[in-house]
Amino acid sequence: MNCKNFIGGNWKAGSSLEVIENMNPVNFEKVSEANISSADDVLEAIQHAEAAFYKWKSIPAPNRGEILYRIGEVLKERKHKLAELITLEIGKTKVEAEGEVQEAIDMAYYMAGEGRRMFGQTIPSELPNKWAMSVREPVGVIGAISAFNFPVAVPSWKIFPSLILGNTVIWKPSLETSAISNEFMRCFEEGGLPPGVLNLILGGQEAGQTIVEDPRVVHISFTGSTETGRKVYQQAAGHLKRVSLELGGKNAVIVLKDANLELAADGVVWAAFGTSGQRCTSASRVIVEEEIYEAFIEKLIQKTSNLTVGDGRNDGVDVGPLINENAVQKMESYIASAKESGSEILHGGKRYQKKQGHFFQPTIIGPVDSENRLVKEEIFGPILSVIKAEDFNHALQINNASRYGLSTALFTKDVNDAFKGIREMDTGIVYVNHGTTGAEIQLPFGGTKDTGNGLREAGQAALDAFSEWKSVYVDY
Ligand code: GLU
Repeated sequence: MNCKNFIGGNWKAGSSLEVIENMNPVNFEKVSEANISSADDVLEAIQHAEAAFYKWKSIPAPNRGEILYRIGEVLKERKHKLAELITLEIGKTKVEAEGEVQEAIDMAYYMAGEGRRMFGQTIPSELPNKWAMSVREPVGVIGAISAFNFPVAVPSWKIFPSLILGNTVIWKPSLETSAISNEFMRCFEEGGLPPGVLNLILGGQEAGQTIVEDPRVVHISFTGSTETGRKVYQQAAGHLKRVSLELGGKNAVIVLKDANLELAADGVVWAAFGTSGQRCTSASRVIVEEEIYEAFIEKLIQKTSNLTVGDGRNDGVDVGPLINENAVQKMESYIASAKESGSEILHGGKRYQKKQGHFFQPTIIGPVDSENRLVKEEIFGPILSVIKAEDFNHALQINNASRYGLSTALFTKDVNDAFKGIREMDTGIVYVNHGTTGAEIQLPFGGTKDTGNGLREAGQAALDAFSEWKSVYVDY
């Protein structure tokens, strides 16, 4: 598929001569190609987004909502096609790809409904003959920069709330997802979004930097690594831009000795190896009370051996490939360092020699010392470290020692421990008796510490992220 930018309502190839080609991560056949965008393409897109802003924000919010609803309808019709493309271009399994598109559909309908609410407040004034109230205002042109691993769901968390509030958007997805991004963009076009309101830029670092540094883009919403997020924050600071950062994770599952071990092992396996561990919420540490360590490991290994690894297009496949060869090599380097540090590989630990494609075995390593880099760094692949804890307090201490704070899960049958954990786990998302993945759209999404900067996506919190409050006083 030959992929293009969508700027001001027109499909146009990126203007640099450099071409990016994406291959299917299983059979290496070409899926898409695109000319990479230059800074000029971005500047043109910003001009269109700026020009469209006043008109778009002047449409009454319920009518903007009707357009988003129609986009939701188009997405629903295209669900299978989009999911197939996700599987083809990045290797996600069929079931997960369909779930991802469903998230975007849900978000379209959710935000369409918000067009009829978008509540402000009226508050009693201190003074006579005065009204005091607050209203939401859009902020202007928003730069949405998204990663490869959720090529439809994560952009939809940024785009739909931005649009319902009356903002216009420049969207720069990962270059690994050109075909998916083109198909997703077409749904907005066919749903009747006016030209210039959402602009797609297929670009790399130059395009990203131009979006982040141009003063006309007033809010940057970025999903990616903590290292890049830090740079984005610094570059945007000169213009005092609003920045929302959804960055790395080092998510832990705590399994207490009273837990239902069958349930806990299922939860850990899915959270660690689903999407081949390429979610920012993937579990990559499991902290187990030492009394149940052996029993739990046995179940974990048994369930992991039952996983079917293969081409995500085939029925019954649980774990697909990694995105590219670099990712496989990164896994190999973590395994080498695990061996050097004397940690035992309990399961997996290798690329598949006989399988064509970027496959890496679901891997369990343990027990791992809590100072090991395996339990400190975000791995973004199917490697799970098991850590022993003396008791619940020790487990909480290990969990909270991470520099990241996105998602933590706790398995226990004790209601007091569950509530203690909810309160004490330093993390943006908490699961009780479920793995660390599977966040829903109606609650805020994001994390503490190096995972982000406080602003959240999804839920009502998204409305706060993408709007300004205007306080209004009326004397009569
Ligand atoms: N929606 C995903 C989940 O909670 C996480 C999104 C991400 O990895 O960026 O599993």
